[in-house]
Amino acid sequence: MAAPTIRDVRAIATAPGGISLVVVKVETSEPGLDGLGCATFTQRWRAVVSAVDDYLRPFLVGKDVSRIEDLWQTAMVSSYWRNGPVLNNALSGADMALWDIKGKMAGMPVYELLGGRCRDGVAVYRHADGRDAEALVASVQGFMDQGYRFIRCQMGGYGGRHSGVGAPDGALPGAYYDPDAYARSVPAFLERVRAQVGFDVELLHDVHERLAPIEAIRLAKRLEPLRLFFLEDPLPPENNDWFRMLRAQCATPIAMGELFVHPAEWSPLVSGGLIDFIRVHVSAIGGLTPARKLAAVCEAFGVRTAWHGPGDVSPVGHAANLHLDLACPNFGVQEWSGFPDAVREVFPGCPEVRRGYAYVSEAPGLGVGIDLEKAARYPCGDRLPAWTLARRPDGSAARP
Ligand code: MG
Repeated sequence: MAAPTIRDVRAIATAPGGISLVVVKVETSEPGLDGLGCATFTQRWRAVVSAVDDYLRPFLVGKDVSRIEDLWQTAMVSSYWRNGPVLNNALSGADMALWDIKGKMAGMPVYELLGGRCRDGVAVYRHADGRDAEALVASVQGFMDQGYRFIRCQMGGYGGRHSGVGAPDGALPGAYYDPDAYARSVPAFLERVRAQVGFDVELLHDVHERLAPIEAIRLAKRLEPLRLFFLEDPLPPENNDWFRMLRAQCATPIAMGELFVHPAEWSPLVSGGLIDFIRVHVSAIGGLTPARKLAAVCEAFGVRTAWHGPGDVSPVGHAANLHLDLACPNFGVQEWSGFPDAVREVFPGCPEVRRGYAYVSEAPGLGVGIDLEKAARYPCGDRLPAWTLARRPDGSAARP
């Protein structure tokens, strides 16, 4: 019997949790057989929708759904100029949807197609935050009471919030922070958390590229005795060469890569033993097809996975992360942001978390559906989040 072919491909944009999400639906020539993939690049969702509807759709319609690898390879180079977050996210939407379809055709969850589960639950980390150290400790203890064993600690969001920032006359609007005050605050609040909760819980911290490279290195050294599970994104991708110096100076475990979109960005860090965890945004590198290969390369070099898992990943994307986590021996930890009720209603089959572990729906494929009628009730907006306009005390623009 001939394999089903792709009948239609379209992007669906919806914001049930207030964050713009993009998923791609691939329909096939077989009635009722379709798949969903995550294509969420929340700050440029319209560009991704166009890349899917105007370019991928005509490229894919009529092709054999079973040839995921060939479709990924040919679609990736069909524009000649390739990679980048817009095109990679669009391709991810189709790629994950094809894996979803393959699972449904096989009658198996996707993790079975990836070799089967090598663990029974996926340990997740949550985000604790507080306006001061006392509030942060309470937030950490709240998560511990719910059974979480991995907790990321921030105080006042990325870069901290410092009321004392003295901006010059005529300073432009923005999310002001003081890199120096932030760098000094981190060891102080993490020491306070450790003193309160001890070493039987894993603590993490996200620098979010907010420091000059040498300041990030000084911070990583200073945090060494606190035994973090990892320090996240201490340097921006533009400063990858500084990882060698960071590595030479301390043994604080490093997680890197939520902004990566190109193999040339992660390859030297992985093969050089310069990071401990790879944490790309799976849809931003092109979907499950490249991510499972990246995970295998990391396994060979002793690097673990910690895929990006914020609110601007759709439940379909979170499910894809979890299927990889279940099947990859070198899984480290999974970032988890939780789903508001409206998101659960739009996406039936959302993964669940119980006592610190995430579980996928055991339905064939990725296990997550979409209610199109409900999705249409939550149109996407165009306002950028305030934190994307970060500024230093003198008013100059900073990486967010
Ligand atoms: Mg991060």
